[in-house]
Amino acid sequence: MIPKIIILFTVLAVVAARRSYQGYKVYEVLQETVNQAKFLHQLEQSNDSIDFWHLSKQLNDRARVMVPPGAQPAFIADLMRNGFQFSVLIDNVESTIQNNAAVASRKPIPIENSILHKYLRHSDINSYLDELANKYASHVSVVEIGKSYEGRPLKTITINENANNPVILLDAGIHAREWIAPATALYAINQLVEHATNNKNVLSNLTWVILPVVNPDGYEYSHEQERLWRKTRKPSGRCSGTDGNRNFDFHWGEVGASSSACSETYRGDTAFSEPETQAVRDALLKLKGRCKFYLTLHSYGNYLLYPWGWTRTLPDGWREIDEVAQAGAAAIKKATGSRYTVGSSTNVLYAAAGGSDDWAFAEAKVPISIIMELPGGGSQGFNPPASAIERSVKESWIGIKAMALKVAQKY
Ligand SMILES: [Zn+2]
Repeated sequence: MIPKIIILFTVLAVVAARRSYQGYKVYEVLQETVNQAKFLHQLEQSNDSIDFWHLSKQLNDRARVMVPPGAQPAFIADLMRNGFQFSVLIDNVESTIQNNAAVASRKPIPIENSILHKYLRHSDINSYLDELANKYASHVSVVEIGKSYEGRPLKTITINENANNPVILLDAGIHAREWIAPATALYAINQLVEHATNNKNVLSNLTWVILPVVNPDGYEYSHEQERLWRKTRKPSGRCSGTDGNRNFDFHWGEVGASSSACSETYRGDTAFSEPETQAVRDALLKLKGRCKFYLTLHSYGNYLLYPWGWTRTLPDGWREIDEVAQAGAAAIKKATGSRYTVGSSTNVLYAAAGGSDDWAFAEAKVPISIIMELPGGGSQGFNPPASAIERSVKESWIGIKAMALKVAQKY
């Protein structure tokens, strides 16, 4: 028999294993000069312990940086030495996470409502897809396109399959902590399947293939252990996880991706080292020629970004993509007043090679390839409260539909 004291210690160890963000602060740092922008960019590349939630190359933009307590004195000294204006955006990251968890766990609600009011777990998301495939078997199907490193099924839902239609491939959740992305994909699925009559214009001559959670291991880990986990979960040396959005085999590892396994932007041991990125690759290759629009959902910052991510040069065909992205931004602006910034990843943010959108455009020959950086949670960054899901996903769906319509007109 196992002594009670050992059971108690085991329980304590499991509870204690959840990572605490006690004392972690998020700073907002105004970059007013080219040298200041350079300084922050170098810091992002060289320091694995601080976590840039937002960084662009635009002057007068405010970077957002999460810094653990031990690194704060040196960080502040650096900022003062370089003449930055800065302020504390989140005083204690742990308390924002706990506030949200308390609201989210209050009471169970039916699945269709829960899409709007809570962040569903991966198994619930997959159950919902299966439920839809059963209920709407004539035009909805679910396929397992692979398994994650920890063995979770990667399921796509195909809506309105017709071999003559152009295909839209929508994915979300390659970055684990960006929970609003899978929530948005789920709302899109809900609208296209259960509210088809309201969405006829984007169903009549389009086929949708949606993978709501690319990185379920990281997604579950961010629910269970570390709210701000970003990468996959496969170990590499003494650290775990690869940045899936630096792992695609197009100019892999050349710029804006780390070769250090402990970095948040680790490119992986090789290109396509992760089963999750392999699954997206294979899904896109299977649709080569048919897939006209690849849309990948991230958070946060209200951006619609397109190739290239590895160089500031624009690719042939960028005007077509820009037109689609502008249609999305304009529709959202008209509906709610929210503004999106539109442009190539490198020109708007920073060069980062190995992204799925570059690969889809260059190798899978998808002519319209866009990253949508969804709205965040205001001062809470990646962690929008569950009460903000409904407003956010409804607004984003307006933009997604407008882009899909534009694509349908073109192909
Ligand atoms: Zn992301």
